[in-house]
Amino acid sequence: MKKLLEILRSQGRHWVGDGFPVRSLFGYNGDAPAVSPFLLFDYAGPHLFEPAGRPRGVGSHPHRGFETVTIVYDGEVSHKDSTGGGGTIGPGDVQWMTAAGGIIHEEFHSEGFTKTGGPFRMVQLWVNLPAKDKMSPPHYQAIKSADIPAVDLTGGKARIIAGDFAGTKGPATTFTPVNLWDIRLEAGADVELPLPEGHNAMIAILSGHVTIGGKAVGEAEIARFSSDGAGARVRTDGDSLLLVMTGEPIDEPVVGYGPFVMNSETEIRQAIDDFNSGRFARVAA
Ligand code: MN
Repeated sequence: MKKLLEILRSQGRHWVGDGFPVRSLFGYNGDAPAVSPFLLFDYAGPHLFEPAGRPRGVGSHPHRGFETVTIVYDGEVSHKDSTGGGGTIGPGDVQWMTAAGGIIHEEFHSEGFTKTGGPFRMVQLWVNLPAKDKMSPPHYQAIKSADIPAVDLTGGKARIIAGDFAGTKGPATTFTPVNLWDIRLEAGADVELPLPEGHNAMIAILSGHVTIGGKAVGEAEIARFSSDGAGARVRTDGDSLLLVMTGEPIDEPVVGYGPFVMNSETEIRQAIDDFNSGRFARVAA
């Protein structure tokens, strides 16, 4: 079994633009090797939005050096980016955007959700790229809920977004070995999750309460495990929504500045200079 090492929590809520009330459960300015290959975890909501006339969100901004993965639980998000990628994703859908060498995008609530308002909840997870792929061409994977296979568990189910769960493979293409599982468990479930040996592994509790290794873990907390050992046993104390992330650590320096995450200060200065000089493509009109 893997060893439970620590519980990660946010230091409070902040708004990303006017659309995303976010709790950051970890970021690359913390213990980056401990969470590698992941860089950042923002839990937006749950939040009830009133109907509005104009979509809330965040306007054009760049990224370089990694991937942003957006998972929607409630509400709808519309994206548009400089590769011509984009679209609207709703509950159960995932957008896996490879910023790599550079992308500019905008992220707003959909027109439809803006008009009706309602409950909103999503996760945005940043996944690092190895140095050799950081400057590769940007691209976009739109993964619809119907394309994500589910595995039945005793007292719940796991949807496999990326990687492999007991032989069931997720649709996302990744640069390094990564598992991403959306798991729902009923109260009283007691499951062993197949977290692989050699992967850094974390379980985010989005709602509910669970007990892992004798420790209680609650809403908006992440249980972080050792890379050695395999598997973790989770018991639920109420209906629970979990997001499980595991990945082979990328053993390279992490140097970040806002939306750019590279391997050195020189590459960060280059990213800022490239962006300021208009060398990132513009968001297509
Ligand atoms: Mn963004």
